[in-house]
Amino acid sequence: MSDIIEIVKNRDPAEKEFHQAVTEVMESVKPVLDQNPHYRQAKIPERLVEPERVILFRVPWMDDQGEIQVNRGFRIEMNSALGPYKGGLRFHPSVNLGILKFLAFEQVFKNSLTTLPMGGGKGGSDFDPKGKSDNEVMRFCHSFMCELFRHIGPNTDVPAGDIGVGAREIGFLFGMYKKLRNEFTGVLTGKGLNWGGSLIRPEATGYGSVYFAAEMLATRNETLEGKTCLVSGSGNVAQFTAEKLIELGAKVVTLSDSSGCIFDETGIDKQKLDHVKVLKNVRRGRIKEYADKYSAAIYTPADPEADHNPLWDHKADCAFPSATQNEINGKDAQNLVNNGVVLVCEGANMPTTPEGVDIFLANKLLYGPGKAANAGGVSVSGLEMTQNSMRLAWTREEVDNRLKMIMKSIHQTSLEAAEQYGTPGNYVNGANIAGFVKVVDAMLDQGLV
Ligand code: NDP
Repeated sequence: MSDIIEIVKNRDPAEKEFHQAVTEVMESVKPVLDQNPHYRQAKIPERLVEPERVILFRVPWMDDQGEIQVNRGFRIEMNSALGPYKGGLRFHPSVNLGILKFLAFEQVFKNSLTTLPMGGGKGGSDFDPKGKSDNEVMRFCHSFMCELFRHIGPNTDVPAGDIGVGAREIGFLFGMYKKLRNEFTGVLTGKGLNWGGSLIRPEATGYGSVYFAAEMLATRNETLEGKTCLVSGSGNVAQFTAEKLIELGAKVVTLSDSSGCIFDETGIDKQKLDHVKVLKNVRRGRIKEYADKYSAAIYTPADPEADHNPLWDHKADCAFPSATQNEINGKDAQNLVNNGVVLVCEGANMPTTPEGVDIFLANKLLYGPGKAANAGGVSVSGLEMTQNSMRLAWTREEVDNRLKMIMKSIHQTSLEAAEQYGTPGNYVNGANIAGFVKVVDAMLDQGLV
């Protein structure tokens, strides 16, 4: 597969996260390409790594001091073979084309795995909502949508949230879309419950990740009850991962944000987690404040120069990286193994570096890659689209049951594909192969477009 990886590197040398994502998928699907020469003849790899469309735009807005600010907006429409482009918007200062292309590329295979009719896309901005007033966030979101609205639609491209884009941002984005189009349609998912959102959507990625972990453990006749778990992040995915873990009788001992991490040996129970939700979602504070309130907790500030992340250096059974990409490097992965961790389930997208992945696989950990393990979020987004089209709302139990079924089926599909192509138990290969085959067969059916 080195030829296609070289093409990608030569064409866009600065996009290292995209190279990483392409390399992982192409290495996994090599046996499929070898057994199906018509995929190569049709230049499937070359077509997959080139987005169908990239939209890059200026986002001017005014801050509370009356100063004009200018950010950059993006939407990557990666692949529409299986349905309208679908994938989140990320607002974070680190956002650039390479990061969004990696996320859009992953999204194509993830959406395919869900079996719902969704293509893949991703977008966002280098705007940082942290420290901004609600009015500033609203002005930014409105300006962002003033350009994006002409490229999206319920049958074209349906964005959702991601890092830095939660219920508040989706509301402002939807408001401007509706005004410009004069249409109330399901053009975004993650909407408020009383205006078209789906029950369980906020919980879906975290709950889905835990359901996937439970499925992996079941293959060894184990459950999450009594397991000590490390969770990173303290945003949407981390909060609902922790919530479901606590509900299932596991003990969660860590959380983090970009400033540092907390370790609470006594366990983060429901009451403490409720405090974190208010701290993060209402007051928009820092995780350090957890240690100020609960004396059993130890806070360690983030050190960008350090060669490892202290969050991953505790005795535990399971790890749920739920913050951002490449947050577990080779040393962190070795620390996890040395500390007795038997399961790693990725709520975040590509949180483990290739060296880390190799260590997990070599040590036969139950390792659920993000593409499979965090697909619950986009699955319930797909269910939100269905409910919007049908103009009805399912109950919490109904959506949660569908989510459980989808995660079970993704687990089974990944396991079977891994087995079929000679790497039993390797969920990385299994998820990549199962997602890949469905997308490329649809591309072939649709001809050269
Ligand atoms: P949020 O913005 O709600 O939370 C992100 C969390 O990660 C925050 O605690 C944030 O800290 C931390 N974080 C972000 N960037 C960094 C960084 N560079 N270094 C350290 N910590 C960081 O986002 P989500 O919870 O929605 O997303 C988390 C991960 O899950 C992402 O990888 C996302 O792509 C993935 N994901 C999300 C889905 C969803 O439905 N929301 C669906 C599937 C995957 P701080 O507040 O300090 O920035």
